[in-house]
Amino acid sequence: MAFRIQPKSLLRLSSRVTTQPRATSLAPRWSRTYATPTMEQQNRTAIVTGSSRGIGQAIALRLAHDGYDICITDVEANKAGVDDMVSQIKDIGRNAIGVTGDVSRLDEVQRMVQTSVDELGPLNTMVANAGIAQVKALLDLTEQDLKRMFEVNVFGVFNCYSTAAKQMIKQGSGGKLLGAASIVAFKPFALLSHYSASKWAVRGMTQAFAMEMAEHKITVNAYAPGIVGTAMWDLIDEELGKKKGAKKGDTIKKYSSELIALGRTSVPEDVAKTVSYLSSPDSDYMTGQTIVIDGGIIFT
Ligand code: NAD
Repeated sequence: MAFRIQPKSLLRLSSRVTTQPRATSLAPRWSRTYATPTMEQQNRTAIVTGSSRGIGQAIALRLAHDGYDICITDVEANKAGVDDMVSQIKDIGRNAIGVTGDVSRLDEVQRMVQTSVDELGPLNTMVANAGIAQVKALLDLTEQDLKRMFEVNVFGVFNCYSTAAKQMIKQGSGGKLLGAASIVAFKPFALLSHYSASKWAVRGMTQAFAMEMAEHKITVNAYAPGIVGTAMWDLIDEELGKKKGAKKGDTIKKYSSELIALGRTSVPEDVAKTVSYLSSPDSDYMTGQTIVIDGGIIFT
């Protein structure tokens, strides 16, 4: 004889299933689907430091294409680049402003954040991208070399993370803090030792901020590029070349072919794609990570 479930018992069963309290019920509803809410619907704003050129420029353009309004910031000496970026982003159809200032100065970072909020609206994402490099042997380093490296690369990221976090906490709807680390945050390069140490500090600070910001629904992650063809690597190439007797351009070529599994030097857009993910709701369940994007030099 065939077994039949009475419609009433089916009803009892289904109501038991749906009313069970579940830990996952705290997750936002869309996070249980495979759909990504489009950024265009959300009107988000981002500050990208050091974005008049190089990796910062590619990040700013990518985030604008993702639907962000952007605050372009860089040092006063690069104001022409800042202004040019503002008009490029407006051409994409997003709003943009330019603010010049030095990230190693807390008061200047506070001014950048305030101006961005006043002119673009609530801050959703801070990309602490600005950084400097220097090629010098450990025993030749002066106190001033070490200080300046940490003022820009470490204090600069701290100033951006902490000022943006305070603003996001005030707004009350979470946010994303992102910092520029490097593969040298996993394994230092000789002659770039204080730069490497500063990027290890960015990685450590990213983990610590992630722990303390979680209760405010702010996620904190860093990106770790490898060898990217920008003004920074032009300098590294030239200085390493001088020390090793190589012609300009030869060191980056040699490092790219010998170190990078994918066999080519990175372009800033490779990094911008990772930052796009880290700035999107798709990475909402990720925090405290430093994501290597280097074509296969360091395997974590
Ligand atoms: P870049 O030199 O081309 O650009 C850096 C930008 O930061 C410049 O526009 C510069 O004016 C700005 N900047 C420097 N000091 C500043 C300060 N005190 N205040 C405000 N802005 C300041 O370098 P990039 O290659 O585009 O590097 C961007 C970030 O990525 C840096 O943090 C760098 O350390 C990191 N990174 C670069 C590479 C690479 O291969 N190029 C690799 C790993 C990590």
